[in-house]
Amino acid sequence: MPITILRLGHRHYRDQRLTTHVCLTARVLGAKKVILSGEKDEKIINSVKDIKERWGGDFEIEYQKNFRKVIKDFKGKKLHLTMYGLPIQDKIKDIKTQKDLLIILGSEKVPPDIYHMVDYNISVGSQPHSEVAALAILMHEYFEGKELNKDFKNPKIKLKPCKAGKDIIET
Ligand code: SAM
Repeated sequence: MPITILRLGHRHYRDQRLTTHVCLTARVLGAKKVILSGEKDEKIINSVKDIKERWGGDFEIEYQKNFRKVIKDFKGKKLHLTMYGLPIQDKIKDIKTQKDLLIILGSEKVPPDIYHMVDYNISVGSQPHSEVAALAILMHEYFEGKELNKDFKNPKIKLKPCKAGKDIIET
């Protein structure tokens, strides 16, 4: 079930940490790809690629200036996460039947036409909060917890879960 994330309106100075967290969360919870839009930020792209090199998996990241074209050309269903949307708990059953999903996240104000370009506008609680939290809850609901057992292929390092302390394995 390929999931692609589109991060709209990235602002180099304000969003660097949060956009990085969007990418890392998307990767660990089973997205195939993140597309960044807004201000181009090679630092984020390189640091996410570096994480992938070391920790494995086949995650991709790229920059696209024209986010409307990304949405228009996407073959599959398009889901915009927004506090103004329909509650996730009412729509998740239908969303789970979709195989290819483009999940769209804002940072600055999302242009109004985006709400009409998508198949779903979905809220995770009808209150403002974080795109990282909204994404994590959506993906957890979508994969029903199976994403937590995801195997990352060809890692250079991995962790052995410990009751206490740290156990890092270099492969
Ligand atoms: N001020 C912006 C606006 O009016 O569009 C939104 C800022 S918010 C911190 C950034 C992003 O977090 C939103 O674009 C949305 O994708 C996500 N988000 C925030 N609260 C949400 C909620 N309750 N449900 C779903 N997504 C949410």
